[in-house]
Amino acid sequence: MKAILKEKPGPGFTFSNVDKPSKLGPREVLVKIRRASICGTDVHIYKWDEWSQSRIKPPLIVGHEMAGEVVAIGEAVTQVKVGDLVSAETHIPCEHCSQCKTGKMHVCKNLEILGVDRNGVFAEYAVIPETVLWKFSPEIPLDYASVMEPFGNAIHTALVTDLTGKKVLITGAGPIGLMAIQVAKAAGASLVITSEVDPSRIEMAKQNGADVVINPIEQDLVKTVYSITNDGVDILLEMSGNKKALEDGLKSVTMGGIVSLLGIFGGSIDINLDSLVTMRGITMYGITGRKMFDTWKVADELLKSKKVDLSKVVTHIIPFENWEKGFELMLNKQCGKVVLNLD
Ligand code: NAD
Ligand code: ZN
Repeated sequence: MKAILKEKPGPGFTFSNVDKPSKLGPREVLVKIRRASICGTDVHIYKWDEWSQSRIKPPLIVGHEMAGEVVAIGEAVTQVKVGDLVSAETHIPCEHCSQCKTGKMHVCKNLEILGVDRNGVFAEYAVIPETVLWKFSPEIPLDYASVMEPFGNAIHTALVTDLTGKKVLITGAGPIGLMAIQVAKAAGASLVITSEVDPSRIEMAKQNGADVVINPIEQDLVKTVYSITNDGVDILLEMSGNKKALEDGLKSVTMGGIVSLLGIFGGSIDINLDSLVTMRGITMYGITGRKMFDTWKVADELLKSKKVDLSKVVTHIIPFENWEKGFELMLNKQCGKVVLNLD
């Protein structure tokens, strides 16, 4: 089968023919991949940055976001059958640590990530444990089912609190920030302000329904937010992984407000917690992954009911063979989500 591989340490990937998986564990499922989408993590592995060097053990089939069809099941599989259309939670929990046992599988202590710690989905077929498969509603187009995993990040981050009638600031309008704009709107936010520095993503933020888009390079974010809201925003969704965005985002939140952090800063950052968080009575949430499977249920419902329309987030659907073009788009940020079509 064809697959995108990190064949050996170093930058880049190879597009090779590898053996189709022939053996399934008792609770494993063979999925024929029909769509796969590119995530920032795949780009990190492509570039072979410091994190990838410490984590990835080549040879490895990369990729984790997908929509596909079940074609074979292990002897003990009960939750899916051949022919089911599935997407996958990419964080594979151990199911026996104390977190897993208490309904917090997304923070499993022994988490394995698809396409990072084990072979992923940028291939014609992938072996995936049944535990993490999500049978999505058939009304959801494959192109959107493929991005349910990052969509789940947007949902998990945005819905830490009731957004009805709330003013929301989203820092960073990458694919996940764009999806969060729509989630916040669908959840009843009265005002969605987005900050973004990249001109094409500023445009996308507007198309995805942000009421106000601020470029913090051209305008002072904090002053602009206060001039629009008088009192600051009720909630900040940090989706840029940029220190300045977080700092100004925190200043833009009203006293007693809520902050939900998704962005990855890639190391320690220097922030005055006393004045920005503690003394202002801010509640902060750290968000990792998606809740299994509360977040997936919400994702499915929002897509099935068309309360969220991902047509302005999924900007490119390209043939699997043209994967290099997909990575080029991601490297230049000239895209929302890039979906690879394997049909
Ligand atoms: P992305 O890198 O495509 O998006 C980040 C956006 O922030 C970009 O469009 C960038 O131009 C913008 N940005 C940079 N500096 C800014 C600034 N000062 N002000 C406003 N915007 C600024 O990433 P994504 O795929 O949309 O993911 C969003 C963030 O979430 C990333 O940091 C990613 O690493 C992180 N992430 C976390 C998890 C998790 O489980 N915690 C999962 C997925 C992604
Ligand atoms: Zn666990």
